[in-house]
Amino acid sequence: MTHVIRAASRATRIASPAQFTGAVFNDEITAPTAPSRLRASLVTFSPGARTAWHSHPVGQTLWCVSGIGRVQFAGGPVRALHPGDTVVIPPDTRHWHGAAADRVFAHLAMSEQTADGGSTQWFEHVADADYARAPE
Ligand code: MN
Repeated sequence: MTHVIRAASRATRIASPAQFTGAVFNDEITAPTAPSRLRASLVTFSPGARTAWHSHPVGQTLWCVSGIGRVQFAGGPVRALHPGDTVVIPPDTRHWHGAAADRVFAHLAMSEQTADGGSTQWFEHVADADYARAPE
């Protein structure tokens, strides 16, 4: 099937506070429709907003669109992200991503679900003290 999904047909969604800290907006690009397993969204984080700790069973690719962001893998440093950066997140790897404390940040998020429909696994929120660490 070939078709165009009009922007006007899909409202921006507010991300759940169960899985995100701060105001986060999700504009869906595509959701998995068999045989494709691809999910892609434009995610916009307000200053200080971020995901909770989480992992992806088939990994995830982020492409930074605008602003200044942050990413951290469990046990590693906080790192700054800038427009045009690509973040490669391996399968089943705990991490979080979000905006810098004083900047809006937007990235494209692309991931595949597993053959049986498995997707993101969510853990605890990122503590303020961990989020506030200076990026390397
Ligand atoms: Mn992720």
